[in-house]
Amino acid sequence: MREKGVEARRAVLLNDFVAQWRAVSPEALEAMDRVGGSGWYILGREVERFESALSSTWGIEHAIGVGNGLDAIEIALRASGLHAGDKVLTTPLSAFATTLAVVRCGGVPVFVDTDRSGLLDLGLARAVLSRDRGIRFLLPVHLYGHALDLQTLRELRNEHGTVVIEDCAQAIGARSHGCAVGTVGAAAAVSFYPTKNLGALGDGGAVLTPDPQLAGRARTLRHYGQSSTYVHDELGLNSRLDELHAAVLGDVLLPRLASWTARRAEIARRYREGIGGCHVEVLPVPEGSDSVWHLFPVLAPQGRRDALRSHLRDEGVGSGVHYPTLIPDQEALRREGIGEIHGELDRARSIADREVSLPIHPFLTDEEVERVIGAVVSWKG
Ligand SMILES: *Cc1c(COP(=O)(O)O)cnc(C)c1O
Repeated sequence: MREKGVEARRAVLLNDFVAQWRAVSPEALEAMDRVGGSGWYILGREVERFESALSSTWGIEHAIGVGNGLDAIEIALRASGLHAGDKVLTTPLSAFATTLAVVRCGGVPVFVDTDRSGLLDLGLARAVLSRDRGIRFLLPVHLYGHALDLQTLRELRNEHGTVVIEDCAQAIGARSHGCAVGTVGAAAAVSFYPTKNLGALGDGGAVLTPDPQLAGRARTLRHYGQSSTYVHDELGLNSRLDELHAAVLGDVLLPRLASWTARRAEIARRYREGIGGCHVEVLPVPEGSDSVWHLFPVLAPQGRRDALRSHLRDEGVGSGVHYPTLIPDQEALRREGIGEIHGELDRARSIADREVSLPIHPFLTDEEVERVIGAVVSWKG
């Protein structure tokens, strides 16, 4: 047993899956027992129940449970009419999956720079969409749990007839000027990867859409492209949300999401009050965003990220980086010469070089929150 100082205390974790399990296990086990005993494990009542709960919570008419967030984006793009060779305007700063989904269905990613918050710069997007009328799709990401400006997204959709698919993997429940993310696009894609705000005990995802036809195509695509048993109208995927995950999500996790989000927002408020006048900069929140704080991103001075992270580690505080490399700089795209870049990506690159994510899950105690703040402000730079 270590005795004194920081080392005796448990490290503040970036995510605490065990704490989540402790909070839900009796109910989760009950849900699992119900599924096991039903003898029905794929595309049954549990998935339907969860889809309808998710759709009514979110306020989008149709929800289609799928295997993961990557597939949710691919299925949303294909169901909304993307064909091989179509260009998709998107952000260089996101999970690689955002762009991978585009490439997997034969689309061509087009990158523009981010704004100061690290989200797709919608002013630049507007300029590129006006200049290149061949770009029919827009795939914005509500990154870090922040909401992009939905009024501007609506304008881009209306002015140019652009098909908007919103990547809401990090932003379930976020609002822009009171309006829920995911409600402007032809469809929204969400992930239930364990680290996400609504994190399952494994992989999962969903497509949400107000359009019944798009919903029907998404259902077909997730299930081998079958329109009915053994009738294949499309070349689909095998990407179904399991009954087991749906039961746990619907019974146990979704009902807790609002209070978990409130706790994240409370922690963000404390961080924003407590972290100031030091060598670490808090990334600004987009105007009008009521964020759900999937992550709490800060910036280290250029070239000092590793030093900051190792100081945090010494203080017993975990951290992450989202994301260290811009998507168009990834070897998988560069090697094949995939994608177009419009303009410089200076802001995105600066964030990729400097960003550090602080722990912000709902199971942090007040004492842990204070420890994180103390660790950040005590860093000598
Ligand atoms: C996690 C994530 C994805 C991919 O979701 P998976 O379920 O891991 O496939 C896509 N986009 C963003 C912004 C993400 O954070």
